[in-house]
Amino acid sequence: MEKLTIGNATLEITQGDITQQNDINAIVNAANAYLRTGGGVAGAIHRAAGEELEKESTHLAPIKPGQAVITGAYNLPNKYVIHCLGPVYKRDMPHDKLLASCYKNAISICEEKGIESIAFPAISTGVFGYPVEEAAKVALKEIISLMMTLRHLKYIRMVLFSDHDFKVHKEKLKELSKQ
Ligand code: ADP
Repeated sequence: MEKLTIGNATLEITQGDITQQNDINAIVNAANAYLRTGGGVAGAIHRAAGEELEKESTHLAPIKPGQAVITGAYNLPNKYVIHCLGPVYKRDMPHDKLLASCYKNAISICEEKGIESIAFPAISTGVFGYPVEEAAKVALKEIISLMMTLRHLKYIRMVLFSDHDFKVHKEKLKELSKQ
């Protein structure tokens, strides 16, 4: 299943690159604590945004696991970047609560700022080692539980890089929507 609508909000699962979401107001960075460029999603976002992004983001650092902060998006096709620090699997405990907080805090920022669309990568599933099946369950459950309460945010997209991660998220959405 690739799409779920609850209330006025739609959640969609897609495959692609988080830096190429031209129709989205805010994209989420799977950031590091110092809000600097790096590998994975953070490297791709900082490269596409340009040096100005790091100049702004480092003033807001450090952040803690589960926390989210917002900056401009510079050369990216979006208006904002929301930087979330995911938990390192089995190190930042409880990792499931901290991972859910990333999604919750990013969505709260959208509601506060009147942002209508957001795109998330699969936070913590790269270098931070969170198994994708478990991370998908935590992320989708949290997003679904918040969808009924949304006033401004209308569209939430999960952007999965690999074919495998895309399939896992589609399956998990199907499973959760039956409950
Ligand atoms: P973390 O440190 O939170 O684990 P990573 O950036 O290492 O973050 O990886 C998070 C996930 O994002 C991984 O599943 C990785 O495959 C995926 N990913 C890497 N580059 C991109 C990209 N350009 N767009 C979307 N997802 C990406």
